[in-house]
Amino acid sequence: MELLGPAPHDSSRQSRQNQGFSRGDFTIDFDERTAVCPAGRRSFEWWDQKHHRNNEPVVKVFFSAENCGPCPMQAQCTRPPTGRRGRGLTFLPRERHEALQAARNAQDTDGWKQRYATRAGVEGTISQASARPGYAAPAAATCPPPAWVMSSPPPRATSSASTGG
Ligand code: SF4
Repeated sequence: MELLGPAPHDSSRQSRQNQGFSRGDFTIDFDERTAVCPAGRRSFEWWDQKHHRNNEPVVKVFFSAENCGPCPMQAQCTRPPTGRRGRGLTFLPRERHEALQAARNAQDTDGWKQRYATRAGVEGTISQASARPGYAAPAAATCPPPAWVMSSPPPRATSSASTGG
């Protein structure tokens, strides 16, 4: 079975504001533990960290202020650097990063859009049907209890409060 749904958007500030280079504009090289920016510069720091909100593993990289400061694309990319670090990027560890990228790429294809439109149509029909007066949701499937439950005597009360003298 395939779960079909849109991949989460890039949450970087640049992407949210639709301004400047977002995460997808950078090339991540997990083997070399480095990232290459749209200006062709390599990051100078790579950190395996935990996300401050959910404690999930993330990778954080930084480009040097030495590169970002004089970069002609700096205004499209990051704030003017003040310390030794310029643009920073946070992304998921390799396996999850690659899966997310693949999902984002797939959802740009016509085939994916057609399949998603089918799903949306089915969901719309179910939603309309279930909103009609008199609709009764199907009962949840139940399993019969296992045989040992049926053949065992009822449990004996062990609490002193329930012995009743
Ligand atoms: S500002 Fe830095 S990271 Fe951004 S494009 Fe320029 S050199 Fe690359």
